[in-house]
Amino acid sequence: MEHEKLRTAITEIAADMAAETDRGRVATYIPELADVDPGQFGIAAVTADGTLLSAGDANTCFSIQSVSKVFTLTLALEALDDALWDRVGREPSGDPFNSIIQLEAEKGRPRNPFINAGAIAVTDAILDDDNAEEALDKILDFLRNVSGDNSIAIDDSVARSEAATGFRNYALANFMRSWSVIENAPDRALDVYFNHCAIAMSCRQLANAGRYLAWDGKLGPNAERLIPEQRARRINALMLTCGHYDGSGEFAFRVGLPGKSGVGGGILAIVPGQASIAVWSPGLNAVGNSKLGSLALERLAERMGWSVFARGEA
Ligand code: GLN
Repeated sequence: MEHEKLRTAITEIAADMAAETDRGRVATYIPELADVDPGQFGIAAVTADGTLLSAGDANTCFSIQSVSKVFTLTLALEALDDALWDRVGREPSGDPFNSIIQLEAEKGRPRNPFINAGAIAVTDAILDDDNAEEALDKILDFLRNVSGDNSIAIDDSVARSEAATGFRNYALANFMRSWSVIENAPDRALDVYFNHCAIAMSCRQLANAGRYLAWDGKLGPNAERLIPEQRARRINALMLTCGHYDGSGEFAFRVGLPGKSGVGGGILAIVPGQASIAVWSPGLNAVGNSKLGSLALERLAERMGWSVFARGEA
């Protein structure tokens, strides 16, 4: 891989994004996120040899929100393996991330692990006997391990802000509890969920954290195995089909890579065998995905020739 080409692309894209005037709108339904300056943009990419290239506000920590759902899914699969799929489906929802409508029709089993209902069910699956602290420690330990950075932490004010206003998520959790899709007390599951959504990371940290998905379950081509190869590939498949809610088709069409977005404006995107990329810009498009983050990934993928649909080298 030519680092110079990637370095130039990232630097130029970051400069273009800094100059953009149409930046989308920051999420306001979590009060603490409403105050984030929409003028920011960061990008970081890690390549096979472990080189990390970045530009813009790549060192600024932001609320990873739903990007955390990739990591909780990884841990839940570690704990339950295929039994997880008794509780959560694997189909795109075609509905907004916080939609409740399918849940009733489908007997409390969420469509996929990345919509809110599915992610709450996944969180419940890694929660033993209502022990929220232990579950959160497990999530943080995993993130610190895969990113190689022990400083990663939860932003308590964001977690409290969502706990005070997340009425829709309480409704989803209670409804799922009524079907025994979640097993712990809904409040406990949500406590862990709100806290892991409130983890703060920079693009540099997040790009490092995604490495195990770029290299079939290892942090690099020659690194030790963390999760089975097939599991890493399947998480990528779900990111491609469900990672951007009702914008998943559009993201797959434009970017052609597995990606997971969060309402904090972050996106983790994976180029299998080539790179793990994190972008962040707080302004969102109409379906709750980072507007400039999506645009930057589209441009980067195009410039680098990256796509999971690209013809491989013979
Ligand atoms: N914590 C947020 C919520 O539950 C996550 C949503 C998101 O990032 N799309 O509403």
